[in-house]
Amino acid sequence: MNEGQLRNENWLLYRLDYVWRNYFADVPQTNRVFVKFGRQARFRFGSIRYCYGDNSTHIRINGLFRDPSVPSEIVDHTLAHELAHYTHGFSSPHPKMHLYPHRGGIIDKELTKRGLGHLIKFYNIWVKNYIKSLSVLVLFSPVFFN
Ligand SMILES: [Zn+2]
Repeated sequence: MNEGQLRNENWLLYRLDYVWRNYFADVPQTNRVFVKFGRQARFRFGSIRYCYGDNSTHIRINGLFRDPSVPSEIVDHTLAHELAHYTHGFSSPHPKMHLYPHRGGIIDKELTKRGLGHLIKFYNIWVKNYIKSLSVLVLFSPVFFN
């Protein structure tokens, strides 16, 4: 990877802003929300955490996604996934709308409702190729964490 060509935190913030303004405009930002590239991980693409100390939300995106060869749709999909959690009141000050963050396909339902079905399709195709590209023998159907 050429360091000079890697995406930076400003680029990531721009993508979050883009996804939020265009697809989650009805969801008010009621606390400080930080977004950063985190560690490089094979099976964890993103995470969202709430800090009770200062009432802030922290979104982390897989450090591997700094590489521009990872399509921006995959970054947007991960950001949208975390924003769906925020919308549902997980790791955010919003009221909790569900008992569990993922059960019942609520994330994909939320994204589809918001006109992001194209990102789900893109992700599903990309992730199949991604699994094939892993340099480990994957003997199970991997579960990806967001
Ligand atoms: Zn999730």
